[in-house]
Amino acid sequence: MDQKKLQYFTKKILEERDRITAALSHHEVEFEGTASTRSAEFEEASRLDRDREYISGLLTMDTEELSDINEALKRILDGTYGKCVDCGNDIPEPRLEVMPSTLRCLDCQRQNELRQEFDEETTPTTPPL
Ligand SMILES: [Zn+2]
Repeated sequence: MDQKKLQYFTKKILEERDRITAALSHHEVEFEGTASTRSAEFEEASRLDRDREYISGLLTMDTEELSDINEALKRILDGTYGKCVDCGNDIPEPRLEVMPSTLRCLDCQRQNELRQEFDEETTPTTPPL
């Protein structure tokens, strides 16, 4: 990838990082806000529990996205940005355009998601709402 494109994607990734960092601190505040108070009525408490679970999912997503972003920035520095971490092929630019911090080509991403789904199925999780 030439320097100009690399700079272009670096800028996009940094913008994304700012966006996610802001979202993360926003969600953290919201999460604090869902801490049940002793005096909360039953309905209020169960609403808070639901909110809390939902926001905790968002926090996990933010955190995962940030770790991808940091990984992508590292790869820009060591010159491997734009190559799939799994198969080593070039990630198509239209894909980087949409998800500049992506670490995998579409095929490997799908494989990876399937693996994660499988992991989630085999570990007990709370049922969906
Ligand atoms: Zn791949």
